[in-house]
This record gives sequence, structure tokens and C-alpha cells, in this order.
Amino acid sequence: MDLFEYQGKLLYKEFDIKHPNSKLVKNLIEIQESVELSYPIVVKAQVQVGGRGKAGGIKIANNHEELIKYSDEIMGMDIKGHIVEILLIEEASKILEEYYISFTLDRSEKKYLIMLSSKGGMDIEKVAEDNPDDLIKYHIGASEELTEDIIHEIIGKAKLNQEYTKSITDIIQNLFLMFVKGDCDLVEVNPLAITDAGVMALDSKVALDMNAKYKHSYFEDFEKEIPIPESEKNAKEKGLNFIKLDGSVGIIGNGAGLVMSTLDVVAENGGNAANFLDIGGGAKAETVSAALEVLEADKNVKSVLINIFGGITRCDLVAEGIVEATKGKDLIWPIVIRLDGTNSSEGLEILKNNPNEKIFIEESMDSAARLAVERGA
Ligand code: GDP
Ligand code: MN
Repeated sequence: MDLFEYQGKLLYKEFDIKHPNSKLVKNLIEIQESVELSYPIVVKAQVQVGGRGKAGGIKIANNHEELIKYSDEIMGMDIKGHIVEILLIEEASKILEEYYISFTLDRSEKKYLIMLSSKGGMDIEKVAEDNPDDLIKYHIGASEELTEDIIHEIIGKAKLNQEYTKSITDIIQNLFLMFVKGDCDLVEVNPLAITDAGVMALDSKVALDMNAKYKHSYFEDFEKEIPIPESEKNAKEKGLNFIKLDGSVGIIGNGAGLVMSTLDVVAENGGNAANFLDIGGGAKAETVSAALEVLEADKNVKSVLINIFGGITRCDLVAEGIVEATKGKDLIWPIVIRLDGTNSSEGLEILKNNPNEKIFIEESMDSAARLAVERGA
């Protein structure tokens, strides 16, 4: 479960990780009189999507008047389909240097992965692409200790300012503790900043491992504060296994594993999935219709990829479902279909006999993903 920035910062408090003084604002009335923070104050939109800064969701106010003005502007803003309903206002820091650090689990190595860079504050994917040497990666086993020596080594490799080695080491140790003891899937701090008030975590991007929900009472408290997207509620009512994502390629597949790899293949072809949607084994017309309806409600969707691998599921039944669900319908986006496995030739025959100018058939998962990305561009 992805947390809001302010929730991640509540965890910082628990684990003694230095971060700016702040106040949570859910209603602008709360800041009309005065706030117990000193100016300048950063007004930050609380949305579960990155790149808020660029989208205008972060502004620095130098006085109360500006605070009201910026808060009013940012509240209600639409950032990549997420409406801002909560603000975090915090004492602005004088930033001297901006670094990047993250902790995740590298499933292929079966180890934790720490990534550290002196190029923080910006898009880290871009750093990884353009200057891969500036992103230091360090794997550590679950039973190993993150010692000071190791931290000193990675700080050196990342070429961070050596004057601050002690405070950076302390904050890295506490972040690692939060990641492990706090049962997080991800802790990302960008920027981890050297400020005139010391080393601080200015941002937080945290995902919790919900398998550990029983261990921490606050998991549930956080969960309650995270709104469920309208489309997810809608899908649940229809009995579909659906999770909204932020891309533009709508995904429908059968089987969780297949859908997961479909998301990857779309990404490999330069696209971004709009959702995870597993229609399971019984892909009847009703289910296909329901799935398409759920996607229709998401304005970000520009094309749809249906990826079916028939095992117990019979491709001819799925094809009948697709035809029935789309026949005579004015489709709002192109649909690319890949059918393989049990009765696929019968399934493809059915689709060919019922052509629709917005439906395209591809043989492989890769070419289907490529076409869906192209058509949605
Ligand atoms: P993101 O765009 O969603 O990653 O939001 P961040 O919280 O990382 O803020 C984006 C950028 O705004 C940071 O990299 C900083 O350059 C700037 N920023 C954030 N907080 C402060 C602050 O307290 N002081 C100053 N001067 N800049 C800040
Ligand atoms: Mn950031």
C-alpha cells in the first residue's frame, strides 16, 4: 500500500528521522488565522503520484498572504487524475545539496537493495539512464547488518559531501531500520537534503508490506485515510480484480501472473499501464463487458490491451465474450487482442468473422503490447 507523503513522515517521527516541522491541512479554514510554523513555508499537495513539483503541486510561501493564496490554488488541483484534498505545509529548508536514497527488495537477488545518488531532487529514472555511474547500488541480505563501514563505503562511492558523513550515516541507519522493522516494501527519500539545519528527509515515498498488517496497528489507520479510486469501487461491485494505475494503456488479462507480466511488457515497449485487471478463468461476455465498462470510466485510458492465455479458460469462449460485448458498439479506444492457448485458433476465427474497425489482433504478447502503446500515443 502506497502512503501519502505525510504518512511516511509520521513514520519518520517514529524512527527518529529528521524532517521539517509541518502541519496537515484538510480544510483551508485551518490556516485562515495563523499557523505555528515559521516562514518561508512550502505548500505541498498530498497525492499518491510523483512529479508534484513539476505539476504545480509544490509552492513556497513567504508570508501568510501567499500561504493562503497558494493553498487555495493547490487544494482541489488535478494532478495526473488525482484530486488534491489534503495539503502538507512545512517549514521550508534552505537546501545546500540534494541527494537520493531508496530501500527496496530486489526479488531476483533475494536481497534488500539500497540505491544512493548525489543527484537528488530530480527524476531518478533519468539519472539512472543518463548517468548510471551516479546511482550507487548496494545489495544486503535480510540477516546482514548495515554497518557504519558499509554506509561509509557507499557514501564515498556516491561522492556525497564528506563533511556530513556522520549525520548522513545516522539518517541512513534509521531509514534502514524503518524499512526493515516498519515492514516497508519501499522507502524512497528524494531529496535527502543537506540544509542549513542539518541533514533532513524532505520528501517521503513509502509503500507498506500489507502482509505485516497484523504487526502494526498504524497500518490500518493509514489504510483508512487512503481514498479508494472510484473505478476500483466500481470494479469491486462487479466482482472484478482491479487496481488503478496511472498510465494510459488499459489492461485486461486472465490470471494474476499473466496480467503482471503484461504490465511489464507494456513498460518495455515504452508505455504505461492504466490498471491491473484480472478477469480470471470465466471470461464470459458479461465479464468482458464489465471489464470494458470499468476501463471506460478512467479518462486516462487511450488504448486497451486484452491478453488471454487459455489454459482452463477457453479462447473461443473469451472471443465470443469479446464479440458480444463489443458488437455494434462505438468503441472509444482501439482494442488490441492477443489470444493464445486452449482453442485459440477457434477464438481467432470468431474474432475474424466479426470484424470491428477498432479491434486489432496480434499474435504475440510483445507485438500486441507494442501496438497498444502505439495506438494509444
Ligand atoms: P516531488 O516533486 O513530488 O518529488 O516533491 P518533493 O517534496 O521532492 O519536492 C520537489 C522539489 O521541491 C525538491 O526536490 C526541492 O527542490 C523543492 N523543495 C521541496 N521542499 C523544499 C524546501 O523545504 N525548501 C526548498 N527550497 N525547496 C524545497
Ligand atoms: Mn521528491
